[in-house]
Amino acid sequence: MTQPLALTARHGDDLRMLIFRQLFDATSSTYTYLLADRGSGQAVLIDPVFEQVRRDAALLGELDLKLAWTLDTHVHADHVTGAWLLRERLGCRIALARAGGAEGADRLLEHGDRVEFGPRWLGVRATPGHTDGCLTYVLDDETRAFTGDCLLIRGCGRTDFQQGDSRELYASVRQQIFTLPGTCLVYPAHDYNGLTVTSIDEERRYNPRLGGEVSEDDFAGHMRNLNLPHPKKLDIAVPANLRCGRPEGSAWASSEPSWARVRSTFGGLWEIEPHALGEILRAGQVQILDVREPDEFSGPLGHIPNAVLIPLGGLNDGLAQLDRERPVVAVCRSGSRSARAVVMLQQAGFKQVANLAGGMLRWRVEGGAVENALE
Ligand code: FE
Repeated sequence: MTQPLALTARHGDDLRMLIFRQLFDATSSTYTYLLADRGSGQAVLIDPVFEQVRRDAALLGELDLKLAWTLDTHVHADHVTGAWLLRERLGCRIALARAGGAEGADRLLEHGDRVEFGPRWLGVRATPGHTDGCLTYVLDDETRAFTGDCLLIRGCGRTDFQQGDSRELYASVRQQIFTLPGTCLVYPAHDYNGLTVTSIDEERRYNPRLGGEVSEDDFAGHMRNLNLPHPKKLDIAVPANLRCGRPEGSAWASSEPSWARVRSTFGGLWEIEPHALGEILRAGQVQILDVREPDEFSGPLGHIPNAVLIPLGGLNDGLAQLDRERPVVAVCRSGSRSARAVVMLQQAGFKQVANLAGGMLRWRVEGGAVENALE
């Protein structure tokens, strides 16, 4: 919908800029991190979640980035990694810990390795204890560290399953993480209280398990008595993550729509580009729903041939005019009112719906067929 604007913004970007986004999966409380170098457009994703691959791919597309690597901080027990599905979709490569024992990666990481994206890189530190394959990724200038489940905000990962070892975790945090600069920001793999970021200095002082004067024995005693429940997805997530998130057998089917080349935006809206609509229009299967006012429909911009006019304000009352079994593409002047129409149709139970990106304005610029227009 906003492609021309995005292009303008991109050219105004500082090419030295680091792009950084913290993304959240509400089901597993997992943070996924996007890091990218604006100049080269190269990106990495740390701890992507399988169910969020569509969102992550949309963001990469909207920011005009090429995903070079997916990185996992460890073999997760609470969600399935998006690594395999992102590689299928985007052709990126998978890197994760050699010590994690997963099969199907493109690169097996060890302590001291670097993962590059353009001129920038992440340093790899082995920080076992939560699992024996846990890694912490540290940005080249040591301003950000991605600690997975080793160090959490005012907490740490559990050490009672998946080869967990509290004494190992204590050593990892004290020797590999707390030795970073105090101002270095710490981004964990999870937070269950809505906290988003902390710093090395804060955790050195205020982490109740690992900060201050806490000794290794104090920490081990704390961890022995956590009495945590068995993780809900453990039996599904761990085997899948040992395959880098590849679904087992042929049971898995893509949930992507097949009726046209539609794509989901980062905001979760299904869109179709004018050229993709042009390709399917001649087959006559798709219904064009124009949600402008009648004077616009017959005004200077004209309308798409065979479009059904139902102004947005009357859409809920006019749904009977549409065939629920056939796909619907919603159209307005710029793509804004029709975006609302798509949501309303979905709420009414329509399954195959998309918004015409950029509306009649882009449709005309890109040479789409128009009826009734003033030339
Ligand atoms: Fe974990």
